[in-house]
Amino acid sequence: MAKKTVTMDKLVALCKNRGIIFPGSEIYGGMGNTWDYGPVGVEIKNNIKRAWWKRFVQESENSYGVDAAILMNSRVWEASGHTTSFSDPKMDCKECKSRHRADNLIEAHSKGKVNPDLMTNEEMEQYIQEHHVCCPVCGKFNWTGIRTFNLMFETSRGVTDESQNKIYLRPETAQGEFVNFLNVQRTTRAKIPFGIAQIGKAFRNEITPGNFIFRTIEFEQMEHQWFCKEGTDGEYYAEFKQRAWQFLLDLGFNPEHLRFKDHDKLAHYAKAACDIQYDFPMGWSELNGIHNRTDYDLSRHQEYSGKSLTYVDPVTGEKYIPYVIEYSIGADRLMLAVLSEAYDEETLEGGDVRTVLHFHPALAAYKAAVLPLQKNLAPKAKEIASMLKKHFPISYDEAGSIGKRYRRQDEIGTPYCITIDFDTMENDTVTVRDRDSMEQIRLNVSELVDFLREKCAF
Ligand code: ATP
Repeated sequence: MAKKTVTMDKLVALCKNRGIIFPGSEIYGGMGNTWDYGPVGVEIKNNIKRAWWKRFVQESENSYGVDAAILMNSRVWEASGHTTSFSDPKMDCKECKSRHRADNLIEAHSKGKVNPDLMTNEEMEQYIQEHHVCCPVCGKFNWTGIRTFNLMFETSRGVTDESQNKIYLRPETAQGEFVNFLNVQRTTRAKIPFGIAQIGKAFRNEITPGNFIFRTIEFEQMEHQWFCKEGTDGEYYAEFKQRAWQFLLDLGFNPEHLRFKDHDKLAHYAKAACDIQYDFPMGWSELNGIHNRTDYDLSRHQEYSGKSLTYVDPVTGEKYIPYVIEYSIGADRLMLAVLSEAYDEETLEGGDVRTVLHFHPALAAYKAAVLPLQKNLAPKAKEIASMLKKHFPISYDEAGSIGKRYRRQDEIGTPYCITIDFDTMENDTVTVRDRDSMEQIRLNVSELVDFLREKCAF
């Protein structure tokens, strides 16, 4: 495995200095664990979402997209079980008042050897007592008991503050796909098996957010629900594991930095569940999940809404509630993985070190940077940049030495630098420098669009 030079501190600093990600509400002293995507970051994140949508909607047979409302009827969350059981076991340190998740304390104390997912709250409390697990912040041992803490953000609808007006910011996008199951099926005339996908914001009042954009209280999910007949679910579960894995490889991930992890404890409705973990700068952690959710979600929505969500097979007339295979990945978490995987510090001839993001060109904020060698070449360079901007996002930079300008583009992962020199004025050719190999070729201006299109396709 290639030794990765990346640390979280280096990534955070690069993101802040290069317009990728800024701390949220920074001029007011920040707002814990919120982050704002800057001019470069928004492009990269949009490209990640575009690549995912292309793979799982556009190129997928029988998959359809939706964009459902964030605010949903509160009955949705009763049906899904979130109102009663979307919670984490919280413990407070009475000495320093810091807040912790009991399961995380046990995992850290046992160095991953004990799996708290298999424990009840009482068993977790007992473990913490018996093993004298101290507060990781102040080192003291003076805990409150475990309290379960619902992670849903509440707000209220309308002008009065009555409890019946209580609504929630959705904690996952999946329910927007489930409640639209028959709408999508009817309007697309899709036959089982088919999929519904969505990309959108989700909100969780996480007890222990952190690790940059790994765990935040507001984030984006990319979710694909595959509706299939009971009996075929095992086969599709295996297929989605494979497709989720392949997507990451095609984005350029080294398979040695990825691994499957089966869930030890399944939710009561799940038949099978696993994560793909990535070797993040802080260690192996969940990147995405794949779940066999059985017919639980649609059955519950049928029960709670009183509306039939039964599928009628148009050929056999058979009626049934489909099973669901869910594939879910956070756009922000994938962005963190993409940045970590791409980050490199390379020592150049002469001893200089360049920081470079080697990610897939399709994910780059700018497909090329147009750089006039000298200021008097700027009009020609601007003309070429405007021509290219009709096809791709392009960066233009005329400030500083050419070497410095290359370095700036390397740091944001621009795959090609196009240099305009005196020969360009003579014969309409330019120099194209490759980000990864740093090799340069000479191309005619008329060849640039096709060249970039081919190199930057996903
Ligand atoms: P975790 O165990 O990390 O809390 P989870 O198992 O609760 O995650 P899911 O509910 O399966 O996660 O959500 C699907 C995906 O959404 C995760 O694999 C992750 O990529 C992303 N995700 C979940 N919670 C967060 C969060 N707080 N911040 C950023 N991304 C998140």
